[in-house]
Amino acid sequence: MGQTLSTLAYLVASVLFIMALRGLSNPETSRQGVLYGMIGMGIAILATLLRPGMGAGGIVLVLAGLAIGGTIGTVVAQRIQMTSLPQLVAAFHSLVGMAAVFVAAAAFYSPESFGIGFAGNIKAASLVEMSLGLAIGAITFSGSVIAFAKLDGRMSGSPIIFKGQHMLNAALGALLLVLVIAFVATGSPILFWLIALLSFALGFLLIVPIGGADMPVVVSMLNSYSGWAAAGIGFTIGNLLLIVTGALVGASGAILSYIMCKGMNRSIINVLLGGFGTTGGEAGPGAGNADRAPVKAGSPEDAAYIMKNAQKIIIVPGYGMAVAQAQQVVREMADLLKKEGAEISYAIHPVAGRMPGHMNVLLAEANVPYDEVHELEEINAEFADADVAYVIGANDVTNPAAKTDKTSAIYGMPILDVERAKTVFFVKRGMASGYAGVDNELFFRPNTMMLFGDAKKVTQQIVQSLQK
Ligand code: NDP
Repeated sequence: MGQTLSTLAYLVASVLFIMALRGLSNPETSRQGVLYGMIGMGIAILATLLRPGMGAGGIVLVLAGLAIGGTIGTVVAQRIQMTSLPQLVAAFHSLVGMAAVFVAAAAFYSPESFGIGFAGNIKAASLVEMSLGLAIGAITFSGSVIAFAKLDGRMSGSPIIFKGQHMLNAALGALLLVLVIAFVATGSPILFWLIALLSFALGFLLIVPIGGADMPVVVSMLNSYSGWAAAGIGFTIGNLLLIVTGALVGASGAILSYIMCKGMNRSIINVLLGGFGTTGGEAGPGAGNADRAPVKAGSPEDAAYIMKNAQKIIIVPGYGMAVAQAQQVVREMADLLKKEGAEISYAIHPVAGRMPGHMNVLLAEANVPYDEVHELEEINAEFADADVAYVIGANDVTNPAAKTDKTSAIYGMPILDVERAKTVFFVKRGMASGYAGVDNELFFRPNTMMLFGDAKKVTQQIVQSLQK
């Protein structure tokens, strides 16, 4: 394949990647978006294999890499639970970061293969790009490993905070800058590896103080970093597609972080400086709840009876619905209630579940009509007219402490005003708190009825009662 044809193929792949991102912005077009992305990646791989100068040895190496990586990726993707996707994404970002470090090392030790000079005499501009790719890649690697460990419960989600932490990070950041300047001036291998080591340490130090509840934003930020690292490396090795794809990942990750911060009403600086998710003097899961007045618990039959007589029902899905995989039976329940004449809608909080769009994906999987699914701003005013709010496995996203308790870890996060409905059902297994570890006083309100049990089982029992 000639140079022009290869550039053209890269251009087509870039356009397909942009179309993929566009498709992914809406549940109705998301499958098509994924398809565009796959075709784009297929073209990119083919064009890379057929690039001028790619010898038989190169082709064999790339194909071997594809076979090994592709097999591991397929097995992991098939085994992974939806609820574990955030940690999987974090783990994959760490690989992108490490890949950037390896490519930078390859370019440094074998510059002639990349057309950027000769060992000991690399162009200054390439050294700048290389050191940026190296530093951002290394930060992404160690930061993502910590994010993975926190999200997967392999280390505590609590922020690890010590005195002078921000000062230390700022000093290390400044030192990194000095090392990069010295490296560009001298091209010294020792400085190359010092930059890598310092960046690994910095990635670790930047992520440990961040609390569990902020991890999704962090994962999205690291996603953005990995994109910029790839773009930096793309400049070094003169690969147009890597530059475009890296910039797309970098920009979309940054935009997603912004949207998530907006959803939680936090500033990105506030998130990155850490601490959210464990503070606020709240006890651990459910501890504070235990001392309170007894709650009103009902049976699925009670719930079926009340909902049969309701006109307007709003279903609020949360993380517990995902764990129980109750989406299908929720739709069956909604279908039966619609037959009884009730108006059904679904209220989606921007951070319900464990990843952006988590609830939308589950409801789409259960073929819930899109026009019944509403975002927080669209539906919040409607709880006041609702007869029933059916809160299934959601907790933090309904917690009024976010509006009233300045000391609460979730203070400032917009929440769904479920308590304004005439009757609020909370379907959950016990009195435990949600992800942010904050007690929810709604459980004790007079218009609340707790439906204790697994989300799927309870909803199945309601369906059986409705069918009688
Ligand atoms: P929460 O984590 O606040 O609450 C989920 C509730 O589900 C728990 O209180 C739990 O109570 C219950 N539950 C768990 N398993 C089951 C089950 N099998 N059946 C029934 N109930 C179950 O979830 P929300 O969706 O309300 O809020 C999301 C939280 O996650 C927010 O704090 C958000 O910041 C955070 N987050 C969001 C991400 C995102 O991008 N969407 C990513 C990562 C975190 P019990 O144990 O008593 O059953």
